[in-house]
Amino acid sequence: MTATAAETHVEGEKSRNVSPGPILLLGAPGVGKGTQAKELMARWGIPQISTGDLLRFHRDHGTPLGQQAKEIMAAGKLVPDELVNRMVAERLKHPDTAGGYILDGFPRTLNQAEWLDSHLAPDEEALPVIAVSIRVGYTELLRRITGRRICPVCGTIYNIYLQPPRDDEKCDLDGTPLVRRSDDSEEVFRERMRTYEAQTAPVVEHYRAQGRFEEVNGDQPVEKVAADVIAAVARLRS
Ligand code: AMP
Repeated sequence: MTATAAETHVEGEKSRNVSPGPILLLGAPGVGKGTQAKELMARWGIPQISTGDLLRFHRDHGTPLGQQAKEIMAAGKLVPDELVNRMVAERLKHPDTAGGYILDGFPRTLNQAEWLDSHLAPDEEALPVIAVSIRVGYTELLRRITGRRICPVCGTIYNIYLQPPRDDEKCDLDGTPLVRRSDDSEEVFRERMRTYEAQTAPVVEHYRAQGRFEEVNGDQPVEKVAADVIAAVARLRS
């Protein structure tokens, strides 16, 4: 059954009263996890915790963690679990996570998923984790990754094929020239996809098997994907 625009709107309004709790956004590189996480942030006022963004921050500031991660990220491989888990544990101590948060790009291995499950288990008061997986085919992902451009100042994400900025490769919001992530080349994308299939696809199955899991078709307009993700979260929390 396809929901009408009015039905989608009513569902969207109802979802505002939902307590989101911790949400995992799963999916291959380029499915739109970052974009959708920002939609969820705007809806519920909960923070987005992107391990990719945190690692890029460390890399760009030359911290010891950043120095360890730099080459690994450039090659499209995964930073060791213990380092990423520790970084996430630190971030989850911030009080802004009390009402919920969106983990974007974590967990990426079964080991990280098991660590997260046991890290959160002692807090019996907290809502359990729910997981939404976004699915997009390989060829479309390649187009998205190679077309992705980011504003280095405000973080707005564009795509020169799908969501181009109004003015030739400049941010609509602040006019800053857009940049390309260094690992968004076709070659590194292929390696990231191999890594995803080998190490992250089992994480999707881990959460599917736990229940509290839904899959969303990411090959639709951004607003439709957002409506579907929000509806999935609302169902999983109802
Ligand atoms: P992303 O922005 O999520 O695509 O992440 C960019 C890169 O950061 C990845 O290709 C990995 O090298 C590294 N990375 C991000 N999240 C993780 C994670 N959960 N575990 C290991 N490495 C990660």
